Amino acid sequence: MCWAVALLKCCAHTFTMAGLLVVISSPSGGGKDSVINALLKQFAGSSRFVTTTSRPPRPGNQEGVDYHFLSSSEFVKKIEQGEFIEYNFYAGHYYGTEAKRLKKALAQSPLVLTQIEVNGKHNLDKAGIPHLAVFLLPESLAVLKHRIEERGGVSKTDLAERLAIAEKEIAASGDYNCRIVNAEGKLAETIKKIAKIISEHLANN
Ligand code: 5GP
Repeated sequence: MCWAVALLKCCAHTFTMAGLLVVISSPSGGGKDSVINALLKQFAGSSRFVTTTSRPPRPGNQEGVDYHFLSSSEFVKKIEQGEFIEYNFYAGHYYGTEAKRLKKALAQSPLVLTQIEVNGKHNLDKAGIPHLAVFLLPESLAVLKHRIEERGGVSKTDLAERLAIAEKEIAASGDYNCRIVNAEGKLAETIKKIAKIISEHLANN
């Protein structure tokens, strides 16, 4: 498949994809932000795609930087208006990729990095949106639990729900292009592996 120019019709959205879309997924607390931030520094002209959510901002979260934050009713209205290429209800909140924003990002950048969860990746597949998909595996669920606790902003119930979802996400990630263990203290190695996979795709397509 040619990543360079793909003209797609999906959900009444026509896409001229100039850039490569890379999906980075992991269970909550799996290190997606750190990986994406490092990749942004390595690939000239790359950009991080900002998705949309009805989850309230966590301490330090910024509108338009971490997410586009909407109320639940605003989000539902956008669903009804067909504005999402994919969306999911996760741990009590909506998360989704807005078609217009993605179209613009792919037209402007040779490499667009987005962090969506497993159902979102599978919905991109159903919609026929080409992408390279990388799943970050935790060393163990105990390490993951510790990372989510350290990040803060989640209740005990929310933590338990996110860990239960994590197990299902790991089980459902078998069809990703690659799955990489993002071990504690080994971020540089993880980045190196992902950067190699992206470079190979950019060179061969
Ligand atoms: P968090 O609340 O921790 O920021 O995100 C919860 C989960 O939602 C994470 O796995 C994150 O990758 C995922 N997520 C963020 N944006 C989107 C999106 O637009 N679509 C989907 N399907 N998942 C998303």
